[in-house]
Amino acid sequence: MPYFNGRFIERIVVLTGAGISAESGVPTFRDADGLWEKHDPMTIATPEAFQRDPALVYRFYNARRSKLAEVSPNSAHESLARLQREFAGDVFLVTQNVDDLHERGGSGQVCHMHGELLALLCTKCGHGDYTHEDFDASSRCPGCGSTGTLRPDIVWFGEFPYHMDEIEARLGGCELFIAIGTSGQVYPAAGFVRLALARGATTVEINRELSDVTGLFHHQRRGLATVEVAALVEELLAY
Ligand code: NAD
Ligand code: ZN
Repeated sequence: MPYFNGRFIERIVVLTGAGISAESGVPTFRDADGLWEKHDPMTIATPEAFQRDPALVYRFYNARRSKLAEVSPNSAHESLARLQREFAGDVFLVTQNVDDLHERGGSGQVCHMHGELLALLCTKCGHGDYTHEDFDASSRCPGCGSTGTLRPDIVWFGEFPYHMDEIEARLGGCELFIAIGTSGQVYPAAGFVRLALARGATTVEINRELSDVTGLFHHQRRGLATVEVAALVEELLAY
């Protein structure tokens, strides 16, 4: 029977942020030296930036997409995949990350609330596709054949995240909520701990540092994701 801290657990929701991919060599926005081609990445990841300077935004995402080939999942991604496979209950994984390291780490279910680096979206016909290739304003939509209509399928600052109905339903029905490597600065994800608490869930935070919402968690595990996630997963699978 799955127990955590003496409590019967049937349904777990795990939220991950950039911190889980940091040890794989994917820089977090805030840990990076803050500048990319002299621009703050936070000001590139907006619809306004894409309107103002699409070439810059395409370059930024093409560079991040091609960097994915140089990184590999770490033991935190792999431990979560093991939890999803072996836990005698339900584990719903939602990530703010746009990399594909959870999938490559073996997770069969990953909810990408902020979109995916490997996905493109046609703003004219709504066609969505996966690609490892660069694309820009001269690329043709595989769906409708138009040029100049493709954008990275990334939820930019100011846009509404994907899958919120399902995420809120899962948070409302879980007994354990675990947040890993997320700063608690970007909403709505930063508010998930409150939704889980409102339904009486036990809450655990794993982070190298204090986050903006640390005080809302019942249990805080301060340390590297690779170490702390592996340890927590061992505990959850021990019963
Ligand atoms: P963030 O950069 O705001 O915060 C990262 C958090 O992870 C920090 O609290 C930091 O203390 C913690 N951390 C860093 N290294 C860690 C480690 N090794 N072990 C444990 N904790 C560690 O990231 P966020 O909260 O995910 O939000 C930023 C936004 O940036 C999100 O919207 C996300 O989509 C986007 N983003 C995604 C990626 C990615 O896909 N890998 C990378 C950068 C930014
Ligand atoms: Zn199209």
